[in-house]
Amino acid sequence: MRQTLTINTKLQKYKVVTEIGLFHKLGNILSQLFPGRKFAVITDDTVKGLYEERLNKQMNEAGLQWTLISLPPGESSKSFDMIPKLYSKLLDFQLARDDVIVAFGGGVIGDIAGFTAATFLRGVNLIMVPTTLMAMVDASIGGKNGANLPEGKNMAGTFYQPKEVLIDPDFVRTLPDRVFEDGMAEVIKYGCVFDPDLFSDLMAKAKRSDGSGIESIIYRCCLIKKQIIELDSQDHGIAMLLNFGHTLGHCIEDYFPDGKYTHGEAVAIGMYMTTVASERAGLTVPNTSSLVKDILICYNLPYQLPEGTNIVEMVEAVKRDKKRRDDMLNLVLIEKIGKGFFHKIDKSEYASFLTQ
Ligand code: NAD
Repeated sequence: MRQTLTINTKLQKYKVVTEIGLFHKLGNILSQLFPGRKFAVITDDTVKGLYEERLNKQMNEAGLQWTLISLPPGESSKSFDMIPKLYSKLLDFQLARDDVIVAFGGGVIGDIAGFTAATFLRGVNLIMVPTTLMAMVDASIGGKNGANLPEGKNMAGTFYQPKEVLIDPDFVRTLPDRVFEDGMAEVIKYGCVFDPDLFSDLMAKAKRSDGSGIESIIYRCCLIKKQIIELDSQDHGIAMLLNFGHTLGHCIEDYFPDGKYTHGEAVAIGMYMTTVASERAGLTVPNTSSLVKDILICYNLPYQLPEGTNIVEMVEAVKRDKKRRDDMLNLVLIEKIGKGFFHKIDKSEYASFLTQ
């Protein structure tokens, strides 16, 4: 069943369409949205390997003038160095201002293609076709894009809304388990911070083999994200509640070398440990952390750090946060399942908040 949401920000209005099998209509949808225009589809080599044949078929059947630009999979393709290379390819293809970039992939592709669309020729049309759960429920909606500098992740970027987001939940079927579970951490986060019913439903069902289950979960997450970004499209207020688990999660990602934890896994541990600490501080209803733990286990996500981890050393990273140089940390906590709130503490107290 097709479900359509309209995102209405101060600057732009656009649709998020969710439908199983939507990918098989992509060529026709694009030709109706942008008749006579050219399309540069940016993807990564994994997605290309899985979907190129089907993409070719329907883009060509719809008679589109298009090109496919594929990057290596993974975070390294979000490097700022990638931007001039993408500009060169777009110039070779003679992409013009009214033409279209289609971001066809996970959050990495959404971010780098979004940044490119926002800046090439001062902005060309952007269509998001997310292929990971993470990108469907989070990265493709809201207009945030980014590129990584040697000094840090997402240090360059803009807010640039797509013209439409086209979600085909069937893409999750080819995701490796770990990538699927990574996305589930963000889904669980929505439940923890905003939606107790979503949390209960996740507990009760939701397995990827049940296509319709995941479709409705994706839709509910998109609905929550819509409501948040309509209130706060620039990430200064309520949208920061989406950072639940992320302050500690980023420290975990930085501390353990060689990608021991994926982003979602680090966030999962962050959500649980933060809730244990806030419960202990009397800021969270007793037993909430055990509900968080149960749901993480249910989705094969970690909730604790290896024994002996030096937490004090690990959270030193918050003091080096290049994006926020003040002494205070605006922590996101949950009062109970479904109700997030902000709690300010001094950065120097963060380690003791977590460990005492
Ligand atoms: P990703 O884009 O690296 O994708 C993960 C892996 O899955 C890659 O190897 C990719 O090739 C593969 N893949 C993608 N679709 C597939 C499919 N359908 N079948 C099989 N394999 C597939 O990672 P991600 O988790 O999607 O996104 C993470 C990125 O998103 C990070 O860079 C993060 O900063 C960014 N992000 C951005 C926002 C935002 O608001 N802009 C929000 C959250 C995350």
